[in-house]
Amino acid sequence: MDFKVVERSPFARIARMVLKSSNVAMVLGKTIHLSGVSRKDFLKDEGWLAHELCHIRQFQEHGFFRFLWLYLKESWRVGYYNNKYEVEARVAGMKHCKHMSPTHKAASAITPTDVPLPADTKKTE
Ligand SMILES: [Zn+2]
Repeated sequence: MDFKVVERSPFARIARMVLKSSNVAMVLGKTIHLSGVSRKDFLKDEGWLAHELCHIRQFQEHGFFRFLWLYLKESWRVGYYNNKYEVEARVAGMKHCKHMSPTHKAASAITPTDVPLPADTKKTE
């Protein structure tokens, strides 16, 4: 898939400050904006990458502004965690973990954030 990764993105930084989280990956169009995580560590994390690539596909499927609107509407309706675009991305991100132990699975969980954008954070211990 055709995509770009931006490290130390000001967009992701704002989301990260609002959320007070240690790391954020946020997708806008074909670009993954990172804050608090390096490009190298992000790309190494297959599950996280698969999750964000799913958001890129959603942008391509629905169109840039239309997808942002649909995402926002869905979040208003059912909340961020149950947002169907997040559910879809979560499934995509979990596919590679089929053979992992449950504890590893929990540790690699990607959590959607409370900003009305396809932004995600990864819990770290
Ligand atoms: Zn997501």
